[in-house]
Amino acid sequence: MIRFICQNVGFSCAFLANIKISPLIGLNRLSQRTGLAAGSGDGLVSFSDAAIEISRTLNTLKDKIIVVKYGGNAMESADLSKLFCEDVATLQKLGVKVVVVHGGGPMINGLLKRLNVESRFAENGMRISTAEVVEGAALALCGEVNKNIANGICNAGGLAIGVSGRDARILECERLVEDGVDIGFVGSVIRVNTDFLRQMVDNGITPVIAPIGCGMPENDEQEVVYNVNADVAAGRVAGELCAARAMFLTNIPGVLDKQKNLLTKLNMQDIEALIKDETITGGMIPKVQFATSALELGVEGALITDGRVPHALLNEVLSNGAMGSGKGGTVITMN
Ligand code: ADP
Ligand code: MG
Repeated sequence: MIRFICQNVGFSCAFLANIKISPLIGLNRLSQRTGLAAGSGDGLVSFSDAAIEISRTLNTLKDKIIVVKYGGNAMESADLSKLFCEDVATLQKLGVKVVVVHGGGPMINGLLKRLNVESRFAENGMRISTAEVVEGAALALCGEVNKNIANGICNAGGLAIGVSGRDARILECERLVEDGVDIGFVGSVIRVNTDFLRQMVDNGITPVIAPIGCGMPENDEQEVVYNVNADVAAGRVAGELCAARAMFLTNIPGVLDKQKNLLTKLNMQDIEALIKDETITGGMIPKVQFATSALELGVEGALITDGRVPHALLNEVLSNGAMGSGKGGTVITMN
């Protein structure tokens, strides 16, 4: 089976034997989803069907970029974070180019509390960002969260470098202006340094990006530090890179309706209506909005899914979740 997958995606078995997470995890989950009994060899099933699907998926992703938003609320367990890092390392080894953009809401809250800095959110889900809040957010995100994720991926046998949106001017921003309400130094991402990101992934490195941006030189703002909502950053990075997929891992199964049922597929009109009738609120707003913005820029598939599920990333990628299975999380489509 593994040999089959490897041959199809052009890797050697010896190579796969070295990776810590087996694609069989994906096969098992896929089998559960499809009702196929992996490995039983007695009938309908099909372990081989599952293998063929994974192999096909990997072929479609070969040399493509996947952008993963790793939400702060989904990274509170050290065990889950470890599995996430292993998934990134595994995907790298399977030839998929991964860019990680992370959040860190709970970690920012913790640091701001210790610094005695008040922090509130605006209705659009953005953190109101005074200069003090931006400083605290940058300390927590760039100093702690970012380094832990990059190091975790390396410890899992992958290759990652942690950067902020100020490094190589990856995220150049302007101040977000919202209906005359001042929400401080919240960045709207105007330009993404895609050349730099492509160079990294082409060299086998996963950039792990903390969503702290810099101002635009032409606005004479190059020294300004912006707090960027991580969903905004991830959606813009995915869109500008024309990534194959934008995957948002969060702390909830996906977008829920008012009765708390999972909505497996949503298009742009659905999303507009759900925001209008206040089914989608707070931190879910930038996720759906920037998932659709990514699609508009050419991203092939966008998915919001539960990052608390062990190996959520690998499962969703290998079982083609973001492309429309609709079984894990919420698939976002244009129409
Ligand atoms: P993250 O750290 O992943 O960005 P957020 O807390 O910012 O997490 O956003 C996810 C949260 O959005 C959910 O935990 C939930 O409280 C909230 N939310 C608001 N509306 C919805 C909805 N319709 N479906 C699911 N979650 C929603
Ligand atoms: Mg959020």
